[in-house]
Amino acid sequence: QKDVLRVENLKTYFYMKNKKVAKAVDDVSFSIKRGETVALVGESGSGKSMTALSIMQLIKKPGKIAGGDIFLENQSLTGFSKKKFERIRGNEIGMIFQEPMTALNPVFTVGNQIIEMIVKHKKVSKKEARNKAIELLEVVGISRPEQIINNYPHQLSGGMRQRVMIAMAISCEPKLLIADEPTTALDVTIQLQIMNLLFKLQKKFNMAILLITHDLGVVAEYADRVMVMYGGQIVEQSDTKKVLFDTKHPYTEGLLNSLPDMDHPTLRLKAIKGTTPPASAFPTGCRFAPRCPYVMEECISQNPPLFDTGNHHLSRCILHKEGVETDNNGTGNQS
Ligand code: SF4
Ligand code: MG
Repeated sequence: QKDVLRVENLKTYFYMKNKKVAKAVDDVSFSIKRGETVALVGESGSGKSMTALSIMQLIKKPGKIAGGDIFLENQSLTGFSKKKFERIRGNEIGMIFQEPMTALNPVFTVGNQIIEMIVKHKKVSKKEARNKAIELLEVVGISRPEQIINNYPHQLSGGMRQRVMIAMAISCEPKLLIADEPTTALDVTIQLQIMNLLFKLQKKFNMAILLITHDLGVVAEYADRVMVMYGGQIVEQSDTKKVLFDTKHPYTEGLLNSLPDMDHPTLRLKAIKGTTPPASAFPTGCRFAPRCPYVMEECISQNPPLFDTGNHHLSRCILHKEGVETDNNGTGNQS
């Protein structure tokens, strides 16, 4: 399978009034193939959503893409004008968010919004678009679509709204779907239904999915590969099994330790001590050093590169410096 998306050394910086620069995404590289699901995990503030918004060219001032490049099937997107990118967004790349209420327009019926999306990208009549909208609502498992199409977003449940968002996102059969915490706001049974729906659609359209989540259960179930983000950088990356069961980076270890203990379900979560540093004030050395149980003298002076510990299992930690140093390139390519 070919790479659908290739992100190379992406830097998304925010230039603040006090002259500080917040490095929300700092030299991130990865690629996703057709049909593949790659999960991006990490605590909030680690740069996951900023990475997604950068790909979608939705970064607002004072933020901007300060470096690197993004390729959609070998076509560089970073030089695209706003207008040219409009054709990519929604058409070749679909996106669903955590809270569909913010992405759906409250003053239009869901039908109108799906129809508008279709008409924008495809040369079809309104009538054809309407039929297509009804068909899409059926595809995402909404019964009585002829009726639902006339509803306003607030008349639907959270799960239904998310299904509508998915219908919109897949309306043009995108090559890549970016799902940013698609089920976080939903209750557990609905979460499962939505995730299963997403992966059924993935097979149907052979889409690549970039799945942003902090739910490692979802990752274990659905992702082919995992990238763990911390402080705007990828700190561990490999196949899902390797990351979850042969964990390298102390941060990933901390995330896994913070999962509820199945043998002692009443015990409280053991969260990682401390908080994510703000992107405007990263430590000079390893960005995880202030929270790392293994911190050593040399961790303080320099931010480690990504080391390949073998078979493209990457870790940004001095503990793995016997591995092959990569050029920060998350694809595992060695410099
Ligand atoms: Fe911990 Fe040092 Fe590794 Fe950073 S480089 S994760 S501080 S051991
Ligand atoms: Mg987020």
